[in-house]
Amino acid sequence: MNTFQGISASGGIAKGNAFLLPVYTRQGVNKYPVAPDTVDADWTRFEKAREKTLEYFQSLIDQTNSRQAAIFQTYVLMLSDPDFLGQLKKEHTEQSVCIEWVVDNKAREYAGMLRSSGDSYLIERAEDILDVYGKVIDNLIGDIQVSCESIPEGAILAARFLSPSDAVFLSKKHLAAVILDKGAANSHLAILARTYGIPLVFGIEDIENRIHTGDGLIVDGSNGTVFVNPDKKTSTEYDKKIAGDAAEREKLAVFSSKAARTKDGIAVKIYANIGSAEEARIALEEGADGIGLFRTEFLFMQSGLISEERQFEEYRSVLEIMKDKPVVIRTLDAGGDKIVDIPGFSFKEEKNPLLGCRAIRLCLKMSALFKTQLRALLRAGVYGSLKIMLPLITDAEQIRQTKILIEEVKTELQSKNIPFNADVPLGIMIETPAAAIMADELAKEAAFFSIGSNDLTQYGLCVDRENAQTAGLFNELHPAIRRFIVQTAKAAQEADIPLSVCGEMAADKARMLVLMSAGINSFSVSPKKIASLKECLSHFTAEQIEALKDWTESPMDADVLQEKMNIFLSGDHARGSV
Ligand code: PEP
Ligand code: MG
Repeated sequence: MNTFQGISASGGIAKGNAFLLPVYTRQGVNKYPVAPDTVDADWTRFEKAREKTLEYFQSLIDQTNSRQAAIFQTYVLMLSDPDFLGQLKKEHTEQSVCIEWVVDNKAREYAGMLRSSGDSYLIERAEDILDVYGKVIDNLIGDIQVSCESIPEGAILAARFLSPSDAVFLSKKHLAAVILDKGAANSHLAILARTYGIPLVFGIEDIENRIHTGDGLIVDGSNGTVFVNPDKKTSTEYDKKIAGDAAEREKLAVFSSKAARTKDGIAVKIYANIGSAEEARIALEEGADGIGLFRTEFLFMQSGLISEERQFEEYRSVLEIMKDKPVVIRTLDAGGDKIVDIPGFSFKEEKNPLLGCRAIRLCLKMSALFKTQLRALLRAGVYGSLKIMLPLITDAEQIRQTKILIEEVKTELQSKNIPFNADVPLGIMIETPAAAIMADELAKEAAFFSIGSNDLTQYGLCVDRENAQTAGLFNELHPAIRRFIVQTAKAAQEADIPLSVCGEMAADKARMLVLMSAGINSFSVSPKKIASLKECLSHFTAEQIEALKDWTESPMDADVLQEKMNIFLSGDHARGSV
């Protein structure tokens, strides 16, 4: 048995057989000459690779998911575009160089042209071309023999990394777990894995030499451990844990249809965090009171800058799925680890991207891009109960500037007789120390607050949330972070504006109770966490939770508070005897 320690990005335990995704070698396509009498044979090689890619994308089209189907249908059309194919053939014949080099070169040239057009629809297509013809090159080079079909149902997928378009494997192949070398807890893949309840561990270095297709694996997503060909003792131990988890899930299932309430009936709101309309359906099934955070950057990370129309459709779908339940859509939070391809802007040039031009700063700088999103949002606002939320606010002026842009957008829409909702509330994330300290002032401009505990902890404790080496320092229970939260809660209460918490902190039972003791009774979490939080709440009275306030407001260390909370959770209250 080998044991590898990675970093957990999605919890749960899975046991099964590995399927190793062959190493991705799309970069570095070699250029080599092709003799004139073998040019035809080389072209036939291309035709076969193109056919294989066509079949691959056709197999991904899921008719029950219109958005996803539309993307892959577009890919299929691109692979059959006679103009593009004609140009490839011409250059291949004229230059007598290998077809993979011609394809790579032409796809990049086309993508560059589309990107520089400045038209958001065409810019979006540039990424599609690279994705589509990149897959053709994979098939030409032969390193990637993978199609969705070749991944066995229920396998544990091991890969060096997965691209956003590969995220489709998660639901389509009912994967038991995913283990990666490269990854990040906030990648689209990680968020999707949490949404679908699939364990995900990354940080397994040199994965292609450590894991082989067919290896028996246990993936413990709760702590990031991967056991390869486990011994009998470990296997039996994990069988028990898996059975325990299954029993627990069954017990929790009843809570998805129940309202979140304390033992004495005090109502709490538990919303869902999502990254696409598809995830809104899961949120609804899991019993969410609405959407507390729609991370719109994930749409952009998948497809580059997307058009107003496509954004509008996605936002409208979420609102329609959620019917009259509230939906908080956050404006583009690009930058940091969330890279979006924006023409004329390079994230790479920033020395400290997390402190750089990201989120609201980027949007206010690229106001055309921001206004496109605001337009799509106001138009979608007609279809449900929408609220708009701004990320990474440090200054009230950023809210005021956004309001000016919103007014401009309204005038434009009005002049074109396009229906829109003129009364969409504008709220902000409290996820910087500046915002927490100035919450009373910001409350004069914001209609609501939502605490982003992930970034608040990152910036408050000066600890990169993605750095495995400092992971031990990242703790939302740190007294400084608790103080920020208490201060924000007081400011929201005094200004009488709604306050919620949408960072990962809210998804942990002990931390949720700590937040409640600060007077917060609205949370937004990954959909699969909703039932367990409701169940936890049902064990405690409002008075018992309020009594935790002394601990929350004290300067006690995070570890000491955690220990106390563990005892509190496992004590008589949790067993239901109090
Ligand atoms: C946060 O920072 O807590 C948050 C919810 O935003 P994100 O994780 O998307 O940065
Ligand atoms: Mg954040």
